[in-house]
Amino acid sequence: MNMQPLGDNIAKLRERVRLSAEKSQRCADDILLLAVSKTRPADDIRAAHSYGLSEFGESYLQEALEKIDDLHDLDLVWHFIGPIQSNKTRAIASHFHWVHSVDRVKIARRLNEQRPVQLPPLQVCLQVNISGETSKSGVTPQQLPQLAQEVSQLPHLQLRGLMAIPSASPDKEHQRDAFAQLHTAFTQLRSQIPQLDTLSMGMSGDMEAAIAEGSTIVRIGTALFGPRNR
Ligand SMILES: *Cc1c(COP(=O)(O)O)cnc(C)c1O
Repeated sequence: MNMQPLGDNIAKLRERVRLSAEKSQRCADDILLLAVSKTRPADDIRAAHSYGLSEFGESYLQEALEKIDDLHDLDLVWHFIGPIQSNKTRAIASHFHWVHSVDRVKIARRLNEQRPVQLPPLQVCLQVNISGETSKSGVTPQQLPQLAQEVSQLPHLQLRGLMAIPSASPDKEHQRDAFAQLHTAFTQLRSQIPQLDTLSMGMSGDMEAAIAEGSTIVRIGTALFGPRNR
C-alpha cells in the first residue's frame, strides 16, 4: 500500500489510543499498538516500521515464516495470534516472541518443549472464550484457572495474560460488556498469579471499548492497512 495513507492511518490510530486512554485516566504508553499484518506483503511491514511500529501480529503460519525471513534485517517483535495446530508448534516456538492464542495444555507443553533453549521464554497469553463468542477457540472461564496454573509452571514459557476475540458488534455497550468479562477473569487470575500484566483485547472496530476496560495490547489490522480479502 502507499506510504501516505499508511502514515495517516498510524497517526489516526495513535490519536484514538491517546483519546481513549485519556478518557479512562490511563497512560497511552501502557497500550501497545500491535500491527496485524496477516495477508499483507512484507513491504507493508517495512513501511509501517519506518513510521515507528515494531510489533506485528500474524495468524497464518506459512506466510508469516516467509515474512519473518524476508524482514530479518529489521528489529521486529513477532506475535502469533491465530489458531494453533499441534503440528505448527515447533515453528511457532522457534520464530515468534509472543503467542496470544494458547487455549489448551497440550499446545502449551509442546511450545515449552520446542522453545529453543538459547532464546528467552516465549511470552504467552491464554485465549479465553467469553460468553457470546461464536468462535470455537478459547478456554472457558471455568477451565481458565486450571490451565493458567499449568502454563505458569512451564519454564520456557512466560505467562503474561489473557486474550479474547469477542464476536463483532456495532453496539458499544455490548462491546464493553465482553471486555469487562475478560477484565474480571484477569483480575481474579491475578490473585493466583500476580505477575500477569497483559490484556490483549480490542481490534479496529472496538478498540475504544477495550481500552476503557483495561486493554494493554490492541490488535489492529484493517484500520492500519485497509480492508482484507480474507
Ligand atoms: C485479523 C485479526 C485482528 C485484526 O482485526 P481488524 O478488525 O482488521 O483490526 C485482530 N486479532 C486477531 C486475532 C485477528 O485474527
